Amino acid sequence: MSDLLNPEKDNFSEEELRIEEQFRPQSFNDFTGQMHILDNLEIFVKAAKLRGEALDHVLLHGPPGLGKTTLANIIANELGVGIKITSGPVLDKPGDLAGLLTNLEENDVLFIDEIHRMSPVIEEYLYSAMEDYKIDIMIESGPNARSVQIGLNPFTLIGATTRSGLLTAPLRARFGINFRFEYYHQELLSTIIQRSSRILGTQIEEDAAIEIAGRSRGTPRIANALLRRTRDFAQIKGSGKIDHKIAEFSLSALKVDQNGLDEMDNKILSTIIDKFKGGPVGISTIATAVAENIGTLEEVYEPYLIQEGYLMRTPRGREATEKAYKHLGKIKANPQGG
Ligand code: ATP
Repeated sequence: MSDLLNPEKDNFSEEELRIEEQFRPQSFNDFTGQMHILDNLEIFVKAAKLRGEALDHVLLHGPPGLGKTTLANIIANELGVGIKITSGPVLDKPGDLAGLLTNLEENDVLFIDEIHRMSPVIEEYLYSAMEDYKIDIMIESGPNARSVQIGLNPFTLIGATTRSGLLTAPLRARFGINFRFEYYHQELLSTIIQRSSRILGTQIEEDAAIEIAGRSRGTPRIANALLRRTRDFAQIKGSGKIDHKIAEFSLSALKVDQNGLDEMDNKILSTIIDKFKGGPVGISTIATAVAENIGTLEEVYEPYLIQEGYLMRTPRGREATEKAYKHLGKIKANPQGG
């Protein structure tokens, strides 16, 4: 697949992630879209500030690149508190977590990305920290080893996950606030692209921003990546300004199709149609046929294909829709054989 269209962070180089930092909105006002989240969140944050208390623990879930990390930073900014950032796979031993927790100041935010990848030991350790702001730590070793309980400053845990289904029920129950991120509509992505262009100091025409937005799989991380590549084309092939012609030229050079689907999206749909008569077919069978792992199919590709109406999830497996047939220029066989 085109790497540019894979919004998973692991797929981005350190340099790209560093550049991404400069696009990060810093306040609720800067953050575009996800109004179903912001409307409520702004009230919860104001109320917590008014009471001088820590905000309740927050779970943010949804596909990669939609702004979970960005929003966690904004929450800390708006609360006027510090933030410590870590991720599930990095927390190896309870001691790692204890170190972070005991260094939190009053009402600070602890952000754990990929929280579904925490080990069960760490997870259990987190329970009492979340619930009573207390943890047990082991002191001394060998026969003198004993556990002592220490109190923590009140804090807010913000957990982010692309796979909320993998969270255990006890962990999920400890989050008082739970938000699901949605893909962004084209107009919102176009606003984000225009804002990023201003940050880059690049001029962009509105119809060019709309064109790039329509091919960004509803994802700000992809929109920003496409903008940067389009800017390169504008500088080398054009006048430096991004107009519609340059946008179209670069997007086709980057092999992003008219509907913003990439090679893997198209491969998934054509596999279901050509090899499995349009489905229904199980996700593990599709994964084998397209040589991609099930997790990536479920987290990255499937949600977008379903939301855009190319794929349906049924109890018997995945099915290609009429729209998928039309998109690939294929004709659906009549089940009656007529
Ligand atoms: P992951 O699940 O991979 O950690 P994420 O959901 O945490 O991804 P972010 O890292 O927050 O995504 O966002 C990716 C990029 O998109 C950042 O550069 C960020 O600035 C930009 N971005 C995300 N949401 C918005 C938004 N609502 N408005 C403007 N820019 C945004």
